[in-house]
Amino acid sequence: MGKIPEANAELLAIKICLDCKTKNNINATRCRKCGGTKFRKKDLAPRVKK
Ligand SMILES: [Zn+2]
Repeated sequence: MGKIPEANAELLAIKICLDCKTKNNINATRCRKCGGTKFRKKDLAPRVKK
């Protein structure tokens, strides 16, 4: 149970357009670049830096 840095929270709040790989706000319904509607979430696996 560690702290989640704001930067991480920000990364988690985006989704990636499957067509053009543009980062979109997690709340976006369409890609802001190509208008596509298919997204994948940013990799949620936490990477711990030592
Ligand atoms: Zn797109």
